[in-house]
Amino acid sequence: MDGGEKLINFIKAIHYWFIIKTFFMKPICKKFFCSLLLFFFVDMIIHAQDDKKVRIIMIGAHPDDCDDDGGGTAALFAQMGYAVKFVSVTNGDAGHQLTGGAELARRRFAETQEAGKRLGVVYDVLDNHDGQLMPTLEIRLQIIKKIREWNADIVIAPRPNDYHPDHRYTGVLVQDAAYMVAVPDIAPETPALKKNPVFLYFQDHFKRPNPFRPDIAINITDVFEKKISALDAHESQMYEWLPWIGHYADKVPKDKTERIKWLAETRKQAITPEVKTALEKWYGKEKAGAIKNAEAFEICEYGTQPDDETIKKLFPMLGK
Ligand SMILES: [Zn+2]
Repeated sequence: MDGGEKLINFIKAIHYWFIIKTFFMKPICKKFFCSLLLFFFVDMIIHAQDDKKVRIIMIGAHPDDCDDDGGGTAALFAQMGYAVKFVSVTNGDAGHQLTGGAELARRRFAETQEAGKRLGVVYDVLDNHDGQLMPTLEIRLQIIKKIREWNADIVIAPRPNDYHPDHRYTGVLVQDAAYMVAVPDIAPETPALKKNPVFLYFQDHFKRPNPFRPDIAINITDVFEKKISALDAHESQMYEWLPWIGHYADKVPKDKTERIKWLAETRKQAITPEVKTALEKWYGKEKAGAIKNAEAFEICEYGTQPDDETIKKLFPMLGK
């Protein structure tokens, strides 16, 4: 019996006790106890509703990866009152041309908290060095713990094919955590999940050994501005490091409003023909034609394998 079940049984016991007691009470006491009963009843319904809400965890290598690959979907979930957590597996302490180490990690942590606030998600950063990530048992256990603590129904991470070793190994680490999250003898200090969640991959453009397959495509047009606002919180990356390493630092506007406009233009992901087909499947041809921004995900073979009905339950925004 888990904590939730214990609470419900406790409430039920009080409920029955009150019903019996009210038969022997004065009218004023009856009123009071009836109100209390109603309160517990409403509370039980609210809890039951919360149990239906999907819990999502997105895991990226760096403290802006989840925002970039899944920020729109996260914003949609957050607007529905669902619990979304972003985890950065590294602290980002190598992502700048002028600073580094603890000072940069602190700056980037502050940026994640601001981005999380703008999206309505919780943002965790693991204290592993940027650019030096390895798929070790120690970090696999850190990830298992994060997925279990969040009681995740959906876990989203990069595929293990990518230009950046941190992205690649984050993909491997999360794949290695799939299945293990349900094994009680592994990391026993954090209770194992009762079922293996659905594991998904973020979209990428890498072709080898196989290209990304968009099984699920989400219309994020209505929350695209919110996604850009979250990316705008990562100033050290969007306006400093990425333009410097990408040799386009001279293109970054100085004015704050102009910068956001520029960011929206440069971070906008083109809808590929494959993603378009997936959008048509989930939204119908007519609606799909009007979608300007989308995020897509591929189902990983190592988690629970959802059918189309389950996908619709997990992503209630599909088709709307
Ligand atoms: Zn990254």
